[in-house]
Amino acid sequence: MSGDLSRGLNRAEMHIAAFRGRIREEPVWPESDGNFRAALQDRFDFERPMDVADLVSEVVGYIERGIVHVTHPRYFGLFNPPVHPAAVVGDLLAAAYNPQLAAWSHAPNVLELETLTLHRLARVLGLNPDAIMATFTSGGAEANLTAVLAALADAAPDWPSGGVGVVAGRPILYLSEHSHDSFVKIARMTGLGTESLRRVPLRPDLIMDPDAFDQLVLEDEDRGCFPFMVVATAGATATGHVDPLYELADIAADRRLWYHVDAAWGAAAAFSPRLRPLLDGIERANSVTWDAHKWLSVPMSAGMFFCNRPAAVQAAFDVTTAYMPQAVGEETPDPYRVTAQWSRRTIGLKVFMALAANGVSGYTKYIEHQAAMGDVLRDRLGDAGWEVVNRTQLPVVCFTHRMIRSGGVSTGRLLEHIGSRRRVWLSETVLDPGSGPVLRACITSHETRPDDIDVLIDELQDALANA
Ligand SMILES: *Cc1c(COP(=O)(O)O)cnc(C)c1O
Repeated sequence: MSGDLSRGLNRAEMHIAAFRGRIREEPVWPESDGNFRAALQDRFDFERPMDVADLVSEVVGYIERGIVHVTHPRYFGLFNPPVHPAAVVGDLLAAAYNPQLAAWSHAPNVLELETLTLHRLARVLGLNPDAIMATFTSGGAEANLTAVLAALADAAPDWPSGGVGVVAGRPILYLSEHSHDSFVKIARMTGLGTESLRRVPLRPDLIMDPDAFDQLVLEDEDRGCFPFMVVATAGATATGHVDPLYELADIAADRRLWYHVDAAWGAAAAFSPRLRPLLDGIERANSVTWDAHKWLSVPMSAGMFFCNRPAAVQAAFDVTTAYMPQAVGEETPDPYRVTAQWSRRTIGLKVFMALAANGVSGYTKYIEHQAAMGDVLRDRLGDAGWEVVNRTQLPVVCFTHRMIRSGGVSTGRLLEHIGSRRRVWLSETVLDPGSGPVLRACITSHETRPDDIDVLIDELQDALANA
């Protein structure tokens, strides 16, 4: 058994190092094996034991030729950066020792490492660690779900027992057209229903219009609804835009609404002195979502939830169960009583490892490098005749071309052509429902260099000429 572990790990280490060494020569987007499902069925009947090291080599082959390589420096995609080596090792330790974090007493030292990490990251955002509770989550979606449940418990003390039916009037959650669609699923999971989501119109610069928001709250109150929460987005997934955090905080305070800031990837901008002002006002939130598996270069899955009303979170989740170990009065509450999960793997150990190994200064370098590469991308697109259509300092660039605008070629056709060449990965999005799709390229890797951006421009020009 322990021999298996060493042989498996050694073999895995060999393959991973070799792949990292040649990654720039690898396609970002390999051509997947034709009828892989059938081939797998022939290959594995699971009847007899197999050699672990051989299995590793075989599976690595399947992975390397069968995934979009999000760790590739020419993956201009969706905030999945290359992973920090210390975080990979942290995840391995989590798997090997398998600490159970449901109850504090089962893994106190690991929980303390997690708490230390969360408190340090809270300080990066300007939140006061002594005044908040914070937990790791499976991702941004779970953190957003946690926020909605806490907001409901805070606004309607009868809700944890009576459910949404006892709330006086339909509960209303305000968000924008550019808010993350996890809230659609959350509306269903919580029993609110999607009609409880009120989309606030955007200003012409594509951020939430605070006046329109205030007006909608008044109208909803007049109609007998029950406004309880507003979600600001700091770093919209499609555009990088940041909602007006101060103005929304003021209105939320006036109207007594829970103020949540979804900063799933944007929060990492706080590591950069140059970008930090974009997040001013986030410290006024009742709760914040921040994903470590986005811009912090930690393997999936790793989200974080920060909240300045711990009692509301506890009211949403609290249970006591006879068979669980009794708490012994530490300051850290048992995670199973304040979060959605029960059995809990340590999500924070890999985040701790990455933060300690990279240091705050290492993250500052990562983020500033990527922001600088975003500027390079904007410049080169402009030089090559493309038109950037979003305004942000963050390295997500939405762009179009007069040939797209005139209907000469579609973004879908361009992406298909670029995809067939497999040298870069990028996507498309729609900025406002009234106009057509645009292309979207995001710098997510601290390893992306100007020559990688040149390859992207070459691919775009080639697609324009030949698609
Ligand atoms: C990615 C993202 C989410 C969802 O987070 P997951 O980690 O994918 O669950 C929520 N909000 C925003 C703004 C995001 O970018």
